[in-house]
Amino acid sequence: MISVAQAQKIVIEKASFLPRTLMPVSKSRQRYLAEAIKAPISLPPFRQSAMDGYAFIYEEGITSLTLTGKVQAGATKVPQLKRGEAIRIFTGAPVPDAANTVIIQEHTQLEDQILHLQKLPAKGANIRPVGEQVTEGVKVLEQGHAINEASIGFLAGLGITEVSVYSFPKVAVLMTGDELQEPGTPLEPNQIYESNGIMLKNALARLGIFEVTLVKAKDTFEETKNSIAQALETHDILLVSGGISVGDYDFVQESLKANSVTEHFYKVNQKPGKPLWFGTKDSKSVFGLPGNPASSLTAFYVYVLPHLRARMGSLSPFLSTRKARLTESIKNPIGKTLFLKAGVTDDTITPYTGQASSMLNTYALSNALLVVEEGQEILEKGQQVGYIDLNF
Ligand code: AMP
Ligand code: MG
Repeated sequence: MISVAQAQKIVIEKASFLPRTLMPVSKSRQRYLAEAIKAPISLPPFRQSAMDGYAFIYEEGITSLTLTGKVQAGATKVPQLKRGEAIRIFTGAPVPDAANTVIIQEHTQLEDQILHLQKLPAKGANIRPVGEQVTEGVKVLEQGHAINEASIGFLAGLGITEVSVYSFPKVAVLMTGDELQEPGTPLEPNQIYESNGIMLKNALARLGIFEVTLVKAKDTFEETKNSIAQALETHDILLVSGGISVGDYDFVQESLKANSVTEHFYKVNQKPGKPLWFGTKDSKSVFGLPGNPASSLTAFYVYVLPHLRARMGSLSPFLSTRKARLTESIKNPIGKTLFLKAGVTDDTITPYTGQASSMLNTYALSNALLVVEEGQEILEKGQQVGYIDLNF
């Protein structure tokens, strides 16, 4: 059995980049850049006024100027000015060539074309020089950058309309379990409602992945094997839910082998979710996730999400880990890494009751996974502990 750290290392090592593709900037949110971006223009591209006011040539001790013209944002003709003259100017307007300072209008008083300067600004004030933000030709975003709304605004400001990004995967989620019933249908005796499929689909949506197929298979070797074969034909990623343990009706491992998926690990020294399976076949990745819903979701956050992000081009694919002060002590006598559903408020963290791997009731309230490392036998109240931040 391997450790959590080893398993995390393997899922990243085996994460080959998905193919690159060109994408309109307007649709590129949550994508990762496949190529660095160089600025095609300088920003600002011309000398701009940063304020509404008056442009002039700075002179030590000057107290008044003669108003001789006006320039607004987008003006194609820029008036010239001489020493002792002022040009009315607005935010974003081009600064007349000779001017070197802009005084804000609040610090002036205009009387019969004479502008009185009540508070002389520093020389050069309120002018954005060419290239103040970025200079043409310079690298402004690195490969692997996660595109967000600010990046999109920035790229648009540079006049860029298309970017090279990595593709997002097509994902199949295969749910095994003869006991599973669709919500919306009455439960027959001894059935439970299926929850992992819709939960994983929504977890994938948080990464921007919407091409997700949900498939069900009966607990037989034939059906499990055939469903896996079919899913692998048309998807990049296969998440199998349940059937990965050692029970008589757990056919997933055998079926993956029969489909020539190469196993990279099976079983991780953790709770919940020890029976976690990971393998690849050519460019396709397969996770065998435990059927218990909380185990399945924890395995998603700790392994599947970073693997997917790495395949989509992220260079920092793991969820952020942080520290907080424990509100109660925790024992870990079993020598495994524990992932505990927990709530973080300000700088404290509280593990919730209902840690069993079948329970989602407290998961629904959790904003953190408290991590107890495999060697840590006891964590004291008040101690700083690490957690995985589920607000991402
Ligand atoms: P398994 O991993 O197939 O042995 O399943 C472990 C536990 O998780 C069993 O109690 C199953 O009934 C339950 N389970 C498996 N798959 C699902 C699912 N898709 N939704 C809800 N519970 C599930
Ligand atoms: Mg099962």
